[in-house]
Amino acid sequence: MRVCVIGTGYVGLVTGVCLAHVGHEVICIDNNEEKVKLLKSGQSPIYEPGLTELMQQSTQSGLLKFSSDLGAGVEHGDILFIAVGTPPLPTGESDTRYVEAVAKGIGAHLNSGYKVIVNKSTVPIGSGDWVRRIVLDGVAERQEALNVDFDVVSNPEFLREGSAVYDTFNPDRIVLGSNSQKAIAMMQQLYTPIVERKFSEDASLPPVPVVVTDLSSAEMIKYAANAFLATKISFINEVANICDRVGADVTQVAKGIGLDSRIGGKFLQAGIGWGGSCFPKDVLALIHTAGDYGYQTEILNAAVNVNKRQRTLAIEKLQQELKILKGKTIGLLGLTFKPDTDDMRDAPALSLIEELNRLGAKVKAYDPIVSQSGLSHGLSGVIIETNPEMLADGCDALVLVTDWQEFLRLDYEKMTKSMVNKVIIDGRNFLDRQTLESAGFRYIGIGR
Ligand code: NAD
Repeated sequence: MRVCVIGTGYVGLVTGVCLAHVGHEVICIDNNEEKVKLLKSGQSPIYEPGLTELMQQSTQSGLLKFSSDLGAGVEHGDILFIAVGTPPLPTGESDTRYVEAVAKGIGAHLNSGYKVIVNKSTVPIGSGDWVRRIVLDGVAERQEALNVDFDVVSNPEFLREGSAVYDTFNPDRIVLGSNSQKAIAMMQQLYTPIVERKFSEDASLPPVPVVVTDLSSAEMIKYAANAFLATKISFINEVANICDRVGADVTQVAKGIGLDSRIGGKFLQAGIGWGGSCFPKDVLALIHTAGDYGYQTEILNAAVNVNKRQRTLAIEKLQQELKILKGKTIGLLGLTFKPDTDDMRDAPALSLIEELNRLGAKVKAYDPIVSQSGLSHGLSGVIIETNPEMLADGCDALVLVTDWQEFLRLDYEKMTKSMVNKVIIDGRNFLDRQTLESAGFRYIGIGR
């Protein structure tokens, strides 16, 4: 099928590349010329395991193209994905101006022939009908006698950064929301190779469930899923804080409750809080939507409040160990909001850096991606070191912020040699306490 994906970020690029890989003819559009140039040269602007290889293969096979020409994209695609960002506004609601610009742009270029316009961006509930209106506005502005024919589908994305390619080929479910049977049928055809697990790790699994809903329910599913996961993490973090006080070990507690099939073991890792480009903004957007309709959320507010506190918990622990932080040097192991991504949006590291700076500490950091790529991501108030040994040099404490696998294998004994105080706060309960203690560290976890 002929597909156009508008927005080549974490979602759009992965979607475009994977749809081309399963055999569709895809054109990816972005209004960032630099990005398009990079993509055309075969390089991915984001770090995502496996993405560059698939991108290069599909480009070579002629199934994947990149352009900044929206008109060409609209002309090419029978299915037009909107996958631009919906960042948070200071009020908590989503900033939908990029979606609006694209919808207007689609309207400005629509001609004859039926099109399915797909909201893949996470958009406020009700955006399906809103996008339809904006597209029609874009058409009307041309003042031509046009007979456009299109439907809008909500197809929320559930991929996880760091395993986005895997998740696209091995989804737990595909959600399609629309009032149009014709549009749903085209989307089902588009996803057939994925539903039939032709590209799954385990092709013997039953087909991927496809959940067909109305537009608003599909939009709500995305928010409810992220809000649930964020709440689950805040829940275990609250339990961890109680464990800290009563002397229990939250890692054992999480194992004990996670084996209950009604609870499940995932998203029960206590730590220094959730962040990233999705959870914070999506939970706030849902709270905001509820408020717009006169409903005061209680559980979601609590999840956010627990998280706010959790994100500076490492500071409390540092103060307990080192007392005054002014003039001390703190080394952060990891910066990105989770491993295997270069995404720094709303990463807990940012809260830590800001608070440590406010308290007068010097902050250094080593991150496998940020340090190697030389990208500073506009970071300020932190010295980026190029290896873990240089990070440890002169530090009063280390804080593990991101659970990168390589942090399990560092030469911690060597690192302690150049440290002033041999303290490590394991912000993700990721490291092996015994290994760290035998290397000479005072090990402090979260809730254990
Ligand atoms: P992103 O910021 O990485 O990418 C957005 C892209 O859209 C950028 O490349 C930008 O240049 C481009 N863009 C902006 N305006 C444009 C325009 N007018 N025309 C063409 N291109 C334009 O965003 P993302 O992380 O990929 O997220 C996209 C959407 O998907 C968001 O709504 C997000 O909430 C949702 N989502 C993200 C994830 C994730 O893990 N990142 C997961 C699920 C859902």
